[in-house]
Amino acid sequence: MVHFIDVGQADAILVLCDGKAMLIDGGNADDSNLIYAYLKKLKVTHLDYIVCTHAHEDHVGGLAGALKYATVGTAYCPVTSYDSKAFKNFVTYLKKRKVSISVPSAGDEFSLGSAFVTIIGPINDSDEPNNTSIVMRVVYGKTSFLFAGDAERDEEQDILDAGYTLESTVLKVGHHGSETSTTYPFLREIMPKYAVISVGADNSYGHPDEDTLSRLRDADVKVYRTDLQGDIICTSDGNTVTFKVERNANADTLAPVGENSLQSSDYETSSDTPVSTEYILNTSTKKFHYPWCSSVKQMKESNKKTFTGSRADLIAQGYSPCKNCNP
Ligand SMILES: [Zn+2]
Ligand SMILES: [Zn+2]
Repeated sequence: MVHFIDVGQADAILVLCDGKAMLIDGGNADDSNLIYAYLKKLKVTHLDYIVCTHAHEDHVGGLAGALKYATVGTAYCPVTSYDSKAFKNFVTYLKKRKVSISVPSAGDEFSLGSAFVTIIGPINDSDEPNNTSIVMRVVYGKTSFLFAGDAERDEEQDILDAGYTLESTVLKVGHHGSETSTTYPFLREIMPKYAVISVGADNSYGHPDEDTLSRLRDADVKVYRTDLQGDIICTSDGNTVTFKVERNANADTLAPVGENSLQSSDYETSSDTPVSTEYILNTSTKKFHYPWCSSVKQMKESNKKTFTGSRADLIAQGYSPCKNCNP
């Protein structure tokens, strides 16, 4: 089972197999509580592996939350130190668990229950942390998963040059669907049936990029997105995989950003909608959200405003409803 946990503009993936557990990234520092609660909900008190794909905060930040709840077997990271508060926090919490970071090499293999994991990147050093991402292929029966971290085209090319088997049923798309990842040559070798993009709604980077979405469309890949669908859970029985999403199962995940199929007309506003509701406004983008919307977490405090009143009033003031939470 692979849980792509919705941590907004970040990655956090929990892989479970035969009672063994591996956490790949933990979201931002702000997601620590969420990761703690997620592991607690599933009673994952021990992580056989904790993988920090690279040192960026949106990957390492929330791992402290995981370490507060669970004990750890092996911790993998491409570096043992990095000058950021989030990374230092990760190391501190690892120390409390009496674990130090192991730097894996491409070609290393280990098992997670009856699943088989191969580290296929990074192959070369890079000044760009994204291109130091630990990239892994996990095989379970006839199904397989490729977790690309934030690897961009340079690392993708290194992996292609190294000649690893890449073919996978499911691809965790590199770098939140950025244009600089998921190049045609890489995608052609992976030939995924399904892809998951871990990305925040209304993020300032414009992820996922339209070019990336169009490459996935050309390759006939069924795409799932955490910004539209929340937590995404993929289950493999060794022959086939099935997906379960938290919401919006039928969203058009390949439509250009901001033009997905979740038009407000899909959601009938019932006539007994309370006249007064609490909304969170983004005074910069002129969008309004329900307080629980994941975009609210991403919002700059200076742009955030709480509003209590009617939807119609907001629209009259020039605000439009978020396409993620559909207020
Ligand atoms: Zn990232
Ligand atoms: Zn990154």
